[in-house]
Amino acid sequence: MPTKPLDRLLFAQGGLCFFCTSPLPKADASVEHLVASANGGSNGDENCVVCCKAMNALLGSRSLKEKIQVVLNQKGHLKCPNGVQKGAKAITDDAKLVIANLSKRGSGRPKAVSTLLSTIRSLFQKDIAEERLALLLQQLEREGFITIDGAKVLYAR
Ligand SMILES: [Zn+2]
Repeated sequence: MPTKPLDRLLFAQGGLCFFCTSPLPKADASVEHLVASANGGSNGDENCVVCCKAMNALLGSRSLKEKIQVVLNQKGHLKCPNGVQKGAKAITDDAKLVIANLSKRGSGRPKAVSTLLSTIRSLFQKDIAEERLALLLQQLEREGFITIDGAKVLYAR
């Protein structure tokens, strides 16, 4: 068995997020203490699950009661708030906007990762966190719209 809690729990959960049951890449995964460490929760597997980092941050050190409430409030349609959604094809409105904009540019599309990043920043009037930017790139790649080859960007269509 994997010895690290994150690896072990992710394996036990079949590679899926505990809350939204979406496939959870290890890079997006984090260990969530159901009873928060701050509230005396243990580090044992019986108190820990693996979920998306954004969900973990949202739940934070809320009480278990409040966490259950957050989950119930989604009425069975829980999607973790980090863009990782059910089905690999699901993409966010952000990504759709970027794809629509880039598609219009034809051969004028940025060919370097750095240029692509500044194009996306200006699209969002620079009002975009680095984390969200990185997530967007991941989505564009997952969608098959771009392939990142070192510092270069290749477009599939
Ligand atoms: Zn999730």
